[in-house]
Amino acid sequence: MDSSGHQLKVASLAKALGLDPARLSKSMYTKLSIQIRTKKEVLTDGAKALGSIIKTELARVRVPDDVAAANAAVCRSNKCGAFIQLDKHKRVKEGGRISLKVVGQEPACDVCNCSSRGLESKWANPSQKCPKDLWDNTKL
Ligand code: SF4
Repeated sequence: MDSSGHQLKVASLAKALGLDPARLSKSMYTKLSIQIRTKKEVLTDGAKALGSIIKTELARVRVPDDVAAANAAVCRSNKCGAFIQLDKHKRVKEGGRISLKVVGQEPACDVCNCSSRGLESKWANPSQKCPKDLWDNTKL
């Protein structure tokens, strides 16, 4: 996607959320940018995340809980500058109009593009590591 196309999509999402696109802070622009990733990016990231979720949640192939918690703490400390809390939205219909409501927050990494359960499963996945080498489950 070219940069003007990307900016238009960010502006469109901002408007849908009731925000003024001309007054977005840098961090809000980044959050919205992540949420409008291209379908290819979302599918690639989704496939990786799904594999990680299956491995750690269904097959229970996981690092010890304290290691996963320590990885989560490293991300949440945002020492890397890439950790983001994304707003979780739900479409709601009110008075015949559909709008987006914020219903919570979910963690995301701006380097690997993992978010929500994908990032949570990555913390526990024995074959995963931080792309900035701040934690590494493969060395356990
Ligand atoms: S995985 Fe690494 S780069 Fe991504 S948010 Fe966590 S510490 Fe930061």
